[in-house]
Amino acid sequence: MMRVLIVEDEPKVLSFISQALESSGMTVDKVSAVSEVKLITKTLSFDVIVLDRLLHGEDSLEALSEIRRNNPLAKILVLSALSEVDEKVRGLTEGADDYLGKPFHVAELVARIRVLAKRSDSPAKTSQLSYADLLMDLNSQKVMRGNCKIDLTAKEFRLLSLLLRNPGRVYSRSDLLDQVWDLNHFPESNVVEVTVASLRSKVDKGFTPLIQSRRGAGYWLGEP
Ligand code: CA
Repeated sequence: MMRVLIVEDEPKVLSFISQALESSGMTVDKVSAVSEVKLITKTLSFDVIVLDRLLHGEDSLEALSEIRRNNPLAKILVLSALSEVDEKVRGLTEGADDYLGKPFHVAELVARIRVLAKRSDSPAKTSQLSYADLLMDLNSQKVMRGNCKIDLTAKEFRLLSLLLRNPGRVYSRSDLLDQVWDLNHFPESNVVEVTVASLRSKVDKGFTPLIQSRRGAGYWLGEP
């Protein structure tokens, strides 16, 4: 049974969504504030979290990394009237798995939740990936470079795990948009460049650079 958490501060929208999901056979929990989602994800694990962007005036994206830490396997779909492209890109850069603008058709929401729940990041055979002195543990989500522990955002983690799985393989920008962000419809966004730059500053700074790129070709993991 798929377990979904809905975080929404408008009672009408909340009951409308939860009825639709329940009648699609999902188990639904409901909260309406940022503090409540932080609390409930500490004790319960969800397959998908439907997160309204503005909750009683608070921007729920600010809580995204904490929700991720509490529920690392949950897929997060951000729901918002702020459906401008810049806002979408920001939501996705900060670790949302999907973003749906209001107003939306509830059938689309149900379909997207199903797709998200099916998507598995890494049914990995091994729980550790490594290259040179870079080590990633997929279960604990710990990343080490030498003796230094590295904190990554969810997208940085996903991007690095993809590169680490296939050292030397060159991934184009659109490969990465597709495989890390499931975004093949935002070719003009700079989300790849921004995330790679941030990843490099965390992983390679002070070490032999391992994240390589060539303009027009793409990105790969390897010695320079
Ligand atoms: Ca709201």
